[in-house]
Amino acid sequence: MAEIERLVIHSGEGGQPFNYAVGLHGSKFLTELRDNKRLMGIRCPACGKVYIPPRRVCGACFVENTEWVEVGPKGVIGTYTIVRYAFIDPETGHQKPVPYGYGFIRFDGADTYFQHFVEITDESRLKIGVRVEPVFAEERKGTIRDILYFKILD
Ligand SMILES: [Zn+2]
Repeated sequence: MAEIERLVIHSGEGGQPFNYAVGLHGSKFLTELRDNKRLMGIRCPACGKVYIPPRRVCGACFVENTEWVEVGPKGVIGTYTIVRYAFIDPETGHQKPVPYGYGFIRFDGADTYFQHFVEITDESRLKIGVRVEPVFAEERKGTIRDILYFKILD
């Protein structure tokens, strides 16, 4: 009789430490967010489009963006979703609490959309076109999580 090899699966937690270089523009963006709670975009010198998060090159003109501009902090919801299905959050390794709101926000003075969490304490208030502003973390660390979520103003 052949020996049966049994598959054993263990569950547990393990660290996955890694570093991610955000680049010159990403560093300035996150440093301003952490130190000054300022949202810095960058303007194309040819067409004037303001990108946030900042991009080194304008996607339309293929010109290097060089002019930093402060945008927001208020903006409008361009589109959104409410996530209701639980999943394992790759940032934490734990199940992400649901439901939560996720939106595309166009800051005042910007031409692109910025993705982040949006409050849903009252889901009926979350609509395309509502005005929002960021709620910053008390202790900021230079990550996108220095913005906790966007609060609905309308
Ligand atoms: Zn351009």
